Amino acid sequence: MKEVYPGIFLIKEKGTLGAIKPPENIYVLAGSDGIIYDAGYGTKRAVKHLVSEIKKIQSNYEEQNRDFTINRIIVSHCHPDHFSGLKRIRKTLGIKITLTKKSAEIIKTKKSFNKSFETDAYEDYMRMRKNYARKIINGLKNIGSRIFYRRIFGVSYIEDPDDIIDSNTEISINGEIWKIFPSPGHAIDHISLYNEDKGILFSGDNILRTITTWLGPPNCSVEEYIKSIKTIQNLPNLKLILAAHGSPIENPKDRIAEILSHRKEREKQVLNIIYNNRENGISPKNIIKSIYPNNSRFLLQVARGWIVLTLKMLEEKKLIKRQETKKCILFFPTVTS
Ligand SMILES: [Zn+2]
Repeated sequence: MKEVYPGIFLIKEKGTLGAIKPPENIYVLAGSDGIIYDAGYGTKRAVKHLVSEIKKIQSNYEEQNRDFTINRIIVSHCHPDHFSGLKRIRKTLGIKITLTKKSAEIIKTKKSFNKSFETDAYEDYMRMRKNYARKIINGLKNIGSRIFYRRIFGVSYIEDPDDIIDSNTEISINGEIWKIFPSPGHAIDHISLYNEDKGILFSGDNILRTITTWLGPPNCSVEEYIKSIKTIQNLPNLKLILAAHGSPIENPKDRIAEILSHRKEREKQVLNIIYNNRENGISPKNIIKSIYPNNSRFLLQVARGWIVLTLKMLEEKKLIKRQETKKCILFFPTVTS
């Protein structure tokens, strides 16, 4: 545990399995009306570690005769590495769970959660999946994710959140006003938490110090993501970003500029590949292969997400067009000179 700003503590949860279960940051905003931001994993071990770290902060505060009461927990978005611990943390610490309407809908039940990850028509289309294949894949995904999330992440669902808030609102934490605003793109229900006086933003998964935020179907959108990053770029007085993974970002302006230019370069890269194949067209699969020629099958599954979404965006912007045959989709540039 580390005090990353006076009164704000970062508790790191250990990750395992590399990118599949990454180390996760949980923040405690300590004071008389404190809050926990993000719930991390819900395994017994993860929550035990969190609680023991919180107890340390508490005894530190009490030694200094300072108030320490945590009243609630909120989450940045409903990906399993962020919400799984909610139920167990509530039970152990006796605090309230505050969720936005959108997040509450997603993690209400196992069924609603699985539904939020069903493949969408665009994804099926890109893979030339037929309707029956789609049903089978969604079914298999459900069984797989149920076992995986339950065992490895300790997921539990929240049918009865204590408070439901709007995703565009203000909340009081330790007597100070913090702004909550929607920042979709990486996840449809993603929110950010900002205090203008301090210039501190809790960015969740949207802005990470060294890693590129994962984007992929069905719930992500490159366009929405860029829009959210630009909203953050325009926040007055932004000085420090506290992210859900990795260390604090002390040069937010530079990091944001880097992220935006990275996305622009990626868009250009896809457009160039399509342009270079303007004679015969190129399939989504071959676009992915030419960007990641050496990746393993598994890594390709993770990496292909942003490419599919970028194709979707380029089609919507009418910068590329498609030609469909029974067996494949080919993309062509709309401007060929
Ligand atoms: Zn996430």
